[in-house]
Amino acid sequence: MAELMPLEEALRIVIENVKPLDTKRVFLHEALGYVLAEDIVSDTDKPLFDNSAMDGFAVRYEDIKNVPAKLKIVGEYAAGTEENLKVESGTAVKIFTGAPIPEGADTVVPVEYTKTEGDYVVINKEFKKGANVRRKGEDVKKGEVVVPKGKEIRPYEMGMLASVNRAIVTVYRKPNVAILSTGDEILDVCEEQTRPSQIRTSNNYTLYGQVLQAGGIPHNLGIAPDNPEKLKKVMESMIDYDVFITTGGVSMGEKDYVQYLVEELGVDVKFHKLRIKPAKPVLFGTYGENKLFFGLPGNPVSCAVAFDLLVYPALRVMQGFKDIFKQKITAVLEKDYRRKRAERREFARCKVWFENGKYHCEPLEKQDSHMLTSLVNANGYLIVKEGVNELKKGEEVEVVLL
Ligand code: AMP
Ligand code: MG
Repeated sequence: MAELMPLEEALRIVIENVKPLDTKRVFLHEALGYVLAEDIVSDTDKPLFDNSAMDGFAVRYEDIKNVPAKLKIVGEYAAGTEENLKVESGTAVKIFTGAPIPEGADTVVPVEYTKTEGDYVVINKEFKKGANVRRKGEDVKKGEVVVPKGKEIRPYEMGMLASVNRAIVTVYRKPNVAILSTGDEILDVCEEQTRPSQIRTSNNYTLYGQVLQAGGIPHNLGIAPDNPEKLKKVMESMIDYDVFITTGGVSMGEKDYVQYLVEELGVDVKFHKLRIKPAKPVLFGTYGENKLFFGLPGNPVSCAVAFDLLVYPALRVMQGFKDIFKQKITAVLEKDYRRKRAERREFARCKVWFENGKYHCEPLEKQDSHMLTSLVNANGYLIVKEGVNELKKGEEVEVVLL
């Protein structure tokens, strides 16, 4: 087993060979899911002026120290008002949420603590000086960084960008990822089955979804036969993509040409076999300028697991994300898990659920790497470390969430 590389080392090599892509400018409404490649600075104080947090009356604190207090209503301030009144001693201005605090006033009494009597308002409750006033600059000061470089743009960041008047922002570009299945037996969706030995592809579409989920731009190149000339021809398009993923043809079979072709095509191969289960045959290398090649196994489960463990973090780094791994949690194992051979780290497909303040996990019965049901019925990978033959019910285990 000496030639199998531990996952940590493989991950270290992948991460070492990947960096954020170049940047581009996007309109605010298209910015969701990108990572900012610039600091966003506020163009103004926020709030821009002292304003009311409530509907009520703007008063001078001195006038409401002794309640009940009766004040003359001298005007009305709605949000967006252009009025320019002054609150003198003994007077109040009727005010609405968001309206500027009139000159002279320093406190807002909410309407529910007042009673209007003709031109007068009676205030029944004392409020602290400055109560219900939103202060100029209390949220953000002009020139302050409101969203730093490296932050993912979520809906909340979109709102903040709008509020500081940024219609266009600089972000890291998303990687273009080619997906190519290999195998004489592989049929595409809707292709007619002419021989019983043919197998319909799942990998093209699992990977398509996984690339999208990771934030990348998938390009489905379809299926290439196990024919070195034809395969090479398709793989020559490698240079057009940031990442090139093949599935199948990467193990020890005579028809497994990928490993030879990549060398011919100038890929600098960094590793080929990993000490993990499933997904032992995973080939990784670099080509062109910071481009990545992943030769993933053909077995559908192995292919998906290899993507989640190795390709996912690489795509995240390319987009500038700091948080690059799928979420890992601790769960209570609800069923014993045993295995005969313990050399490799295993990612057993499992069900995870949250109950009584804890995550719980149960490995699925079907674990073979050709069984897609083991993924469809799962929402986690139970991690079984190297050297561990048995995990007991009740033990705390680590689970990658899917
Ligand atoms: P290989 O790695 O080429 O030896 O393929 C391993 C297994 O995965 C074989 O049983 C293939 O038929 C199967 N396989 C390869 N490519 C795909 C695919 N795109 N979709 C589903 N199964 C595949
Ligand atoms: Mg094959």
